Amino acid sequence: MHCKRLICLGLSLSLLFSNCSQTFAAVKAGTYFKVQYTHNKKKYSKKAIDARYNNSIIKTNMPGFIDGSTSLYSAYWVFGRCSSLGTKYTYSSKTKKITLKRSSNTLVMTLNSKTAALNGKKFTLPAAPRKIRYVSKKKNYIMIPGEAAAKKLGLNYTWNNRLLSGLITKKTAGSPSSTTSSGNTTNTSSGTKGTATKITASASNYSIRIKKPAGLSASSIVSDDDYWNKRLRIIVNGNYKTHFASSANRTIKESLTYSTSYSGGKTYINIKTSAIKGFSVTQTSSYIYVKYAAPKSMYHRIIVIDAGHGGSDSGATGSGYAEKNMTLKIVQNMKSYFDKNSTYKVYYTRLSDWYPSLSYRYKMANEVGADRFLSVHINSADSSSAKGTETLYKTYKTYAQNVQNNALKGMGYSSSSSYNRKLKYRTDLAVLNGPKMTTALVEMGFISNKTEANRINSKSAAIGNYLYQAVCNSF
Ligand SMILES: [Zn+2]
Repeated sequence: MHCKRLICLGLSLSLLFSNCSQTFAAVKAGTYFKVQYTHNKKKYSKKAIDARYNNSIIKTNMPGFIDGSTSLYSAYWVFGRCSSLGTKYTYSSKTKKITLKRSSNTLVMTLNSKTAALNGKKFTLPAAPRKIRYVSKKKNYIMIPGEAAAKKLGLNYTWNNRLLSGLITKKTAGSPSSTTSSGNTTNTSSGTKGTATKITASASNYSIRIKKPAGLSASSIVSDDDYWNKRLRIIVNGNYKTHFASSANRTIKESLTYSTSYSGGKTYINIKTSAIKGFSVTQTSSYIYVKYAAPKSMYHRIIVIDAGHGGSDSGATGSGYAEKNMTLKIVQNMKSYFDKNSTYKVYYTRLSDWYPSLSYRYKMANEVGADRFLSVHINSADSSSAKGTETLYKTYKTYAQNVQNNALKGMGYSSSSSYNRKLKYRTDLAVLNGPKMTTALVEMGFISNKTEANRINSKSAAIGNYLYQAVCNSF
């Protein structure tokens, strides 16, 4: 045992003889646990949470819990002894100081104080670290805000509300949430195809006018709404970087950041805006006109489709499938139908394998002023016989019913059969609580049931079609 006396303060000696063998999952087969603890002689009962590193649950004897909106974890168990995070934990009962070290970073927190210091520089924690007594174990644990601690120590942290889990990963260069392109892009011929807009860019109404080089055909210019990066890209066949980089060839009327690049035989004109905007692009023989506006003022109907999970979050796994891949396949099928319908502007939280945080998903929907939101998921249970389709809702029951009816059709299930698990009222889900518009979450079937998982996989084109219809028909 390498447990120094110092770091064992606040813990029972019995821990010295226990290995890191306790795996605690906050959500198991859809069941939640409550943690009962006392703090300053007051009794608390909170929903238990766990923390994961690279998708494995960090073993702990003391479950985490949420206080207000801050996830608190045992400093010792998550960042100390059993941790694979590369962090070292010490606690001094004399000074009440909690110290976490990871590579060159030292984070010092003090019990019952929101003031902490990273490498000597003070900052404020979202919640004060505290010593609590875990009722069922009759032991004391020091609980610290997990997200702040992880991030200050150079780790990634995202909250997964389905798993009730803080997902911790090591930072890698080109993390999808910050830098790289987030998904496949839709190329639309400028001006003609694409989504019908309320406003059309023209010589008398534009945000930017770009002069075209002589002899460049309209068909060699396409535009691509890269909303994940808050920009419109105009892609031109051939190397025209010098021409498009010249400030003499553009007139900017509304705030935007203009840049150009050349790669792979194409010139890219990047028009970056401060928030997600809707764009109209029009070409004449001499100019490209681009007008941007808030999506709400640009498009008639706005939809956000959310493929559940992604990237480091596989979602449920079973029967040889991962939920994140099944949801993406369905959403890509929905997209193939939406792409042919210019009535709707559709934003996808992801179109490739990366993890948009839950708040990223609903913030995107709120930012674009979406009219509808649909989150696509696959269910899972301990029992391999669990089966059927259900739709989760909080406020918009009619919409959810519409989604449920169509989801059943997509699966080829009769609504009067036992495969219809009907609507489920849920108040604990970020993608139902966060979006301000009509929203629903569909669980197509059970990945843990091999027959059903295979069915979802083979029917994903039909499912995509029916879910597309469910959203369209809801207007
Ligand atoms: Zn899911």
